[in-house]
Amino acid sequence: MDAVNPATGEQFAEYTEDDYADVEATLETAIETFESWRERPLREREELLAAAGDVLRENKRRYAELMTKEMGKPISQAVAEVEKCAWACDHYAEHASAYLEADHHPSPPGTSVKTVHDPLGPVLAVMPWNFPFWQVIRFAAPYLTAGNVGLLKHASNVPGCAMALKEVFREAGYPEGVFQTLLVGSSKVEDVLTDNRVRAATLTGSGPAGRAVAETAGKHLKKTVLELGGSDPFVVLDDADLGRAVETGVQARTQNGGQSCIAAKRFIVHEAVYDEFVDRFVDEFESLTVGDPMSEATDVGPQADPDLMAQLHDQVEASVKAGATVLTGGDPLDREGAFYPPTVLTDVPKGCPADAEETFGPVAAVYEVADETEAIELANDTRFGLGASLWTDDRKRGQRLAREIDAGCVYINEMTKSDPRVPFGGIKDSGYGRELSEAGIKEFVNWKTVWVQ
Ligand code: NDP
Repeated sequence: MDAVNPATGEQFAEYTEDDYADVEATLETAIETFESWRERPLREREELLAAAGDVLRENKRRYAELMTKEMGKPISQAVAEVEKCAWACDHYAEHASAYLEADHHPSPPGTSVKTVHDPLGPVLAVMPWNFPFWQVIRFAAPYLTAGNVGLLKHASNVPGCAMALKEVFREAGYPEGVFQTLLVGSSKVEDVLTDNRVRAATLTGSGPAGRAVAETAGKHLKKTVLELGGSDPFVVLDDADLGRAVETGVQARTQNGGQSCIAAKRFIVHEAVYDEFVDRFVDEFESLTVGDPMSEATDVGPQADPDLMAQLHDQVEASVKAGATVLTGGDPLDREGAFYPPTVLTDVPKGCPADAEETFGPVAAVYEVADETEAIELANDTRFGLGASLWTDDRKRGQRLAREIDAGCVYINEMTKSDPRVPFGGIKDSGYGRELSEAGIKEFVNWKTVWVQ
């Protein structure tokens, strides 16, 4: 497995893929460790997680540089990602006991009935490269603390991050088999998932990858959580604070090079403010600094991989061919590395790639609508349903409209984001299940009813 810097094309490290014997040893260690790990008092598991948070904070800069080198994220955003990971560790270290407390139920006379939450066993996590630390900590912090053990199959282009995450848990003092990495490509996932020792799986990534994992898991009756990306609407109504909407919209579309499942992708703007919104939005896009991701001044680094950039450009070209207008950007930059400019499209026809597919890069599709009814119809006119952002000065109006949007979350006057305190996940083709918060930690536990007569 090669680590290649997408800003330069330089291969800077090489990792040997795990062979059959390595995978076998990892699975055996996982199941053996699970038996003792599940018996560790929850308080001790919380303390270890708090220590993992400390390791992340202590090595923040080193981990951030590794992410930036492997997948091109601007360094300031990489540092923020490690800090967020430490926060998630702190969060579950503090709240796991309360989240996992037994639920008591109305009981028939003379009985006591409760539900306790036991761990399931080894959980396979198939993870993407776009937030190489955050996506992993998002599963590991709750699931390990609940008493499961984790098997990370990270994306093939971030093997260094996979190894660094293993180091985090080792340095924090976790027993060796609680968090392990499998350095394997996607073709090996089916074998691992069908193994009896693996009890459940979580995947963040594309629809095809999610479907493949769900199909295998379904055949073998293993529970899955899937987080599969989206085409999130960013709705700007006539009474919105335009300055904040533009500023936040630009960040929501371009942070992490636009490679985020919950990035705002379709900007749906009321006709009363459309012209002003578009002018200001394009100005802001053009003022972003695109360049060396190691520079603190950079807003948008390279795309994570030249092939993924080529796919993004194909989507833009096909959309333009179908009738979309390019207001800025639209062609890969003529320089070394996988650099794609922040791009704004208008007149986006229904069904073209920028409208119907997930665009995983800094490409915004902007639509004009006559009223809020049309805005909501367009927001829902997608096969995805991950997040949405809605802008209005009338909070009651915002809350009423939020109920009409088909998505896992709606943020009013704020960009869609994940937060350890609140549930995160989607509906429709964006997947199922929830991560983070109490909902997340209870996804991979056995809700065991205990009836005492
Ligand atoms: P993938 O979905 O292919 O990769 C994500 C993870 O799934 C990787 O670990 C990958 O392994 C694994 N994987 C891929 N195919 C399978 C399979 N058939 N069975 C089991 N595991 C599999 O994403 P890409 O990196 O190829 O990106 C393609 C598109 O996916 C993006 O343009 C974007 O639209 C979407 N995406 C969405 C993400 C999100 O946050 N929701 C994150 C990343 C991508 P390996 O790397 O070894 O192939």
